[in-house]
Amino acid sequence: MSVLETSLQYIKGVGPKLSSRLSKRGLKTVRDALYFFPRTYQDRRKKTPLREVVREGEYLVEGEIVSAGPVTYRSGKGTFDVVISDGTGYAVLKWFNFHLETWNSLYRPGRRVLVYGTARGFLGNFEFLHPDVEFVDGEDKGLERLTGIVPVYPEVEGIHQRTLRKIVERAVEAGLPAVEDPLPEELLREEGLPGLKESLRQIHRPDDDADVEALCDFRSPFHRRIIFDEFLTLQLGLARRKYLAVKEQGISIPWEKEIVEEIKRRLPFQLTEAQRRVVNEILRDMKRGEPMNRLLQGDVGSGKTIVAWIASLIAWNRGYQVAVMAPTEILAEQHYINFTSLSRGLNVKIVLLTSSTPPKEKEELKSAIARGEADIVIGTHALIQEDVEFSRLALVIVDEQHRFGVYQRLKLREKGSSPHLLVMTATPIPRTLAMTLYGDLDVSVIDEMPPGRTPVTTKVIEERDRARMFAFIREELKRGGQAYIVFPLVEESEKLDLKAATDMYEKLREGELKGFPIGLLHGRMKQSEKEEVVRKFREGKISVLVSTTVIEVGVDVPSATVMVVENAERFGLSQLHQLRGRVGRGGKKSWCFLVAGRKISDDARRRLSVMEKTTDGFRVAEEDLIIRGPGDFVGTRQSGFPDIIFGNIIRDTEILSRARERAFRIIEEDPNLSSPKYRKLRELVTSRWGNAIDFAFV
Ligand code: ADP
Ligand code: MG
Repeated sequence: MSVLETSLQYIKGVGPKLSSRLSKRGLKTVRDALYFFPRTYQDRRKKTPLREVVREGEYLVEGEIVSAGPVTYRSGKGTFDVVISDGTGYAVLKWFNFHLETWNSLYRPGRRVLVYGTARGFLGNFEFLHPDVEFVDGEDKGLERLTGIVPVYPEVEGIHQRTLRKIVERAVEAGLPAVEDPLPEELLREEGLPGLKESLRQIHRPDDDADVEALCDFRSPFHRRIIFDEFLTLQLGLARRKYLAVKEQGISIPWEKEIVEEIKRRLPFQLTEAQRRVVNEILRDMKRGEPMNRLLQGDVGSGKTIVAWIASLIAWNRGYQVAVMAPTEILAEQHYINFTSLSRGLNVKIVLLTSSTPPKEKEELKSAIARGEADIVIGTHALIQEDVEFSRLALVIVDEQHRFGVYQRLKLREKGSSPHLLVMTATPIPRTLAMTLYGDLDVSVIDEMPPGRTPVTTKVIEERDRARMFAFIREELKRGGQAYIVFPLVEESEKLDLKAATDMYEKLREGELKGFPIGLLHGRMKQSEKEEVVRKFREGKISVLVSTTVIEVGVDVPSATVMVVENAERFGLSQLHQLRGRVGRGGKKSWCFLVAGRKISDDARRRLSVMEKTTDGFRVAEEDLIIRGPGDFVGTRQSGFPDIIFGNIIRDTEILSRARERAFRIIEEDPNLSSPKYRKLRELVTSRWGNAIDFAFV
């Protein structure tokens, strides 16, 4: 066993008590300590003469103790005060917590001390409260080194920073010799990166000539090296996956003139230039012998559904089956309706399979699918959860991909022998994030909206403007418009929220919207009830739909012109963008009202004002990424990727691109990482990715 795996308990000075506190913080082994990075650094390189300590701040000073002893205040509380002098001036060191005997024996007049701490002005003098002190008169018994660039570690409960520093220092000393660099030397040279050992050492104990600011910002060459490793590992996994996918024998699905003509005749509108382009990209992929792995990105309402339908018909025409997976029942249902109406009169069997399909019907459907009698199967998670078997599945379409993890994507694929995969997302993903999450996919973008759309006007509404808003909505309804009113749903109190929506529904019906037909839609309703309400809304029999967030994704009712989001501050930006995307789909002018709760934070206000300023999904997504941070953005954690701990895809884009390029080049050169120089790297990649996905090297 490597020393890196030994328990911290065996480090000098770490007993059972400390080791249990450390392990609560996830610090169990020497390796953990090596990768426990300082959260910041203190610059203790330069001593300041006491005369020059004239402003509050952090200082390193040296002096001789002039006097020392306890001071008691009238309140009965006391401090231990030590006065030092260096010939240029005086300063007071002050402790509120001290052990009198120990302090008395340590701080004796005449001793020389080196002091680091924050100085505060007090009655013309400067005081250091609870400073770090080192005796420099030879009597010191192994206290830490005080000078230089000193690391400050994240808090560990019950362990003083100085003790923690000592422990990590010893662990680093013990572990460093055992560290092996996973990157071959020539690669380091080409990338201009320092070695791993050197980097870890410098991160914990920087040389005196290091750039402190860069260290504090995680921008030092040593930090960058560690971040490079993280990104490289991630990208190697993705590159490897892509390599395996491309290598697979896929199903070539050429398109024939007749079906193309048939599709063209059926199109209810002219495709936009962007739609035409992505259709071409997709059809070209499907024709090739390799399985397609394509991400179709397009803002809410850009028209991805028709693209999916075209691809499906091309596959069906050659006698293959298609699976379309959507994240919610309503959306699956809607695709089913759309596909069915677009395909009317063709001999194509389209079926809908969700978790609320009755058992008996479900069994029948499943056997029809297995026998190959169902051509296009549209469904929810049920498609992967249940033991659905296909007889000749050749195309898998996953809608609103950000809702699904990698596992699910892969599992659905496994239902056929290397079917083509088309992943669609309406959350426009900033380039850097796409690179992280979908590094193994080719990307198509619909960057153009269908014609005749007027951008939605967005307004943040304060409580006091509510009456005016409803007056406006009434006018709009009289003009034939339709409105959604959405309530947030927070998991902890689903019942309460539901009550809020239900109460509001009742109140609106009797009050502000009296006389207008109103419907209620929420997640707890039976599937058939939901469908009924959405249908009535679509047909204009209901003019206001009060809803929980079940409508967030994909619902398409072009005649809707008003979206009201209650307690809008409770939603994330991309969610708000999705909701807003429900309106402005017909040619009519549309509005989105974001009603802010009574007490909202500055952060929330900032989020809402982003929505007022732009309707561009990419801008919104980018702001969201900045405000929320990347970890949260698409739920990377649940999606089966190795964690990114030190890297930050917003701050470190440049390293990310370089790592990505390098990873793809390595896999091209040595797909199995089998050459000796990649032995360590291969171990690293395998351990970081774990069994999360199919990443067994052969
Ligand atoms: P999304 O990309 O959000 O899934 P949809 O596919 O639901 O968007 O399309 C949104 C709306 O735009 C639908 O009502 C659809 O019929 C319409 N649409 C799509 N493409 C066009 C087009 N080229 N011209 C006119 N309307 C279109
Ligand atoms: Mg859609």
